[in-house]
Amino acid sequence: MTAFWTEPDFDDHEMVQVVHDRKSGLAAIIAVHSSHLGPGAGGTRFWHYPNPKDGLRDALRLSRGMSYKNAMAGLPMGGGKAVILANEARTKSPELLAAFGDAVEALGGRYVTAEDVGISEADMVAVSRRTAHVSGLPVSGANRAGGDPGPFTSYGIYLGIKAAVRHKLGTDKMDGVHVAVQGTGSVGGGVARWLAQDGARLTLADINADGVKALAQELGAVVVAPEAILSTQCDVFSPNALGAILDDESIAALQTKVVAGGANNQLARAHHGQALFERGILYAPDYVINAGGIISVATEYLARRDDTPGSVDDVNALIEQIPNRLTEVWQASETSGVSPDVVADRMAQELIGRG
Ligand code: NAD
Repeated sequence: MTAFWTEPDFDDHEMVQVVHDRKSGLAAIIAVHSSHLGPGAGGTRFWHYPNPKDGLRDALRLSRGMSYKNAMAGLPMGGGKAVILANEARTKSPELLAAFGDAVEALGGRYVTAEDVGISEADMVAVSRRTAHVSGLPVSGANRAGGDPGPFTSYGIYLGIKAAVRHKLGTDKMDGVHVAVQGTGSVGGGVARWLAQDGARLTLADINADGVKALAQELGAVVVAPEAILSTQCDVFSPNALGAILDDESIAALQTKVVAGGANNQLARAHHGQALFERGILYAPDYVINAGGIISVATEYLARRDDTPGSVDDVNALIEQIPNRLTEVWQASETSGVSPDVVADRMAQELIGRG
């Protein structure tokens, strides 16, 4: 067996903690990729992995992703992630959440947690009874940062799509620009609403047939079957459902000038960024365009930690930097002939002192 730290996914992680609490049954991995810019911030995933090694791999990849995302969002936060290895029945007890809170607390603020797949706001409230290093908690008071990150993610993607249209199509007007939206849940639904306000022409697809139909009626959009959205002829394809949707087959089928959406890890493999580039399709690196949610979560945490106002205006001001960041990536890509995903990775590595 090769040493753990020579595994490719290890990627110079600063810390990987394996937690086991016999009494509550908690088995978890807490990974901090980089704390160069601040505490390692990233949510907790509660998931059943038949092979725990896959849980470790998830924690490492997601944690590195958070380093890059937080750095490119201009946040004073590093990157981290926790994975709780759920049992097959996915039983979640108050004792387990308390033990997880103790494990986060024991790290003294080196890792800051929040919700991810399988963890609700109520779970985070339970965790917050044992540690202060938590975000994504309910907030009260007008204009206070916090709450559901979905709408903030949507806003950043909407601004990113407008930047992409400006860059690729040379227009500031969204009126009549055709956007095909895959996934109309929390993020994709919000993106569609923003775009509809600007008069964009929308084609929507979701496996939730009733939900997408209702949204299309509200916005005057067209619905296509989930399998048809990738090959819809459009100006912008906006993936807001699943990861790994950009592979050899789907990239060959795309009939768009731009790919810009919020789904995490859209490229099935690293070389698919290059494949988009070679087809002349402008790609908005996912972790750059979808940072609105983490900007909200981080602002909420810093406000609580430092007793500063942390307003929605502060959050929006940071989100409004996303278009500039994307344009910087695209310009560097065109100058260097390197695809935007690789350019973004290099910029992020530079920002976390690993250039
Ligand atoms: P969500 O569950 O609210 O919405 C996802 C939608 O995708 C659902 O309506 C679902 O029915 C649909 N869907 C699933 N499979 C589909 C398919 N094959 N074809 C078409 N539609 C399909 O989740 P969300 O919070 O909107 O997140 C969407 C994506 O954005 C995820 O990849 C998530 O990781 C990413 N993301 C979310 C946030 C956030 O703040 N919520 C932040 C960053 C990234």
